[in-house]
Amino acid sequence: MFFPRLETDLPRGRLAVKLKNKALAPLRNGDFRIYEDSVEKLSAKGSAGDVAVLFDRKQKFAGAGLFDPFSPVRVKVLSNSSSLPAVGSELFSLLIRGALDPRKAGFAACGEATNAFRLVNGESDGFPGLVADRYDKALVLKLYSAAWLPHAGTVAECFFHALPELEYLVIRLSRELSHLPEKDLCGLTDGKLFSAKGEEALRKWDGKTLFRENGLLFEADLVRGQKTGFFLDQRENRAEAGRLAGGKSVLNVFSYSGGFSLYAAKGGAKSVTDVDISKYAIKESERNFRRNTDFPGVAACCHTGIAGDAFEVMQRLLAEKKSFDMVIVDPPSFAKSAAESENALRSYARLARLGSALVRKGGILVFASCSSRVGKEELFPAVNGAVAESGRRGEVFLVTEHAFDHPAKFPESKYLKCQYARIF
Ligand code: SAH
Repeated sequence: MFFPRLETDLPRGRLAVKLKNKALAPLRNGDFRIYEDSVEKLSAKGSAGDVAVLFDRKQKFAGAGLFDPFSPVRVKVLSNSSSLPAVGSELFSLLIRGALDPRKAGFAACGEATNAFRLVNGESDGFPGLVADRYDKALVLKLYSAAWLPHAGTVAECFFHALPELEYLVIRLSRELSHLPEKDLCGLTDGKLFSAKGEEALRKWDGKTLFRENGLLFEADLVRGQKTGFFLDQRENRAEAGRLAGGKSVLNVFSYSGGFSLYAAKGGAKSVTDVDISKYAIKESERNFRRNTDFPGVAACCHTGIAGDAFEVMQRLLAEKKSFDMVIVDPPSFAKSAAESENALRSYARLARLGSALVRKGGILVFASCSSRVGKEELFPAVNGAVAESGRRGEVFLVTEHAFDHPAKFPESKYLKCQYARIF
């Protein structure tokens, strides 16, 4: 198969990293983060993406990975066994297979109705700092660590070998990486496009793609869209909301491109109101509704979009004495650091007060949080406390996490939690 080699496939340096003793047991047990303070000595200064070979104090091999001088996690470990291939395409292919194999049953259960999935979920799939999402024939590699910059081309090539039906590649860079000096970026920019079909195909492609999720047709902008273009982690919650929405009036707060809304409409909601601060997202939701009028529920649903700040819009709807049978609240992460978690909890509580006040007696409040800094043991008491304080009684009937293709093997990677409650 033809796939252009990327400018990033430069020969990389190798770095010997001597580890302090405290790092060894966690590493043997599968904790693949080598923090700065676990490093005893480096054989050279090292650059981002250098292959780091780890040794103990007796010079015994302890593992291998990629060096990241910009992150407190200095080495993103990829292997802790000398029986695995050295860092490079053979190891990447092995790790990709390791991520795809356990997902196969989930892919098969979705059948042809869904063709957008997370293929690799960072360190939980053995790729610390790298996410791979697939939207039909397009692969998005999102890099959260500079260690991957020089290897992105090789990793992409391994994916294209494993999944020959892929045609397009988009490289996305986390905000932190986008700000690195150009010399460190290995020729990559956020949203850089590649095509396995050659230059002509690439010129015709703007980075947007249609894909299906449970039969519904969505468009994602893989270059400019949030995350990698869509919030694939909420797939199962959207399906659940769709099952609950029959005959209901639904308010979808933080609606983005209308994911929950389309499912609600397909499930028979009589009306759906979107609220999002982004006008672009509201327009995209309208377009997604138009794309799905083959579904009788979508064609019949009365759909409205409100572009504005969620807190203000909910306040206004309350002042107008509006109420809904189902309110979905799926805010962005309010706590980017541990220090922000108190404030985040206050914002969640405010949203829960506003959200539950907008639910008609006996209706449903769906409340999600994607902030890894706020655990479910803090979030749900804050949400339920706020509902009770505003004089409503909530009966939680379901608590969920990420979709199946977002495995979370570490406590910190369990960021998404969602609660469904009946509000009386
Ligand atoms: N529920 C969506 C994902 C929501 S992501 C889905 O299933 O696809 C969070 C959304 O909140 C983004 O679309 C972002 O534009 C929006 N947002 C962020 N701050 C906001 C605010 N203050 N008011 C309203 N929307 C906001």
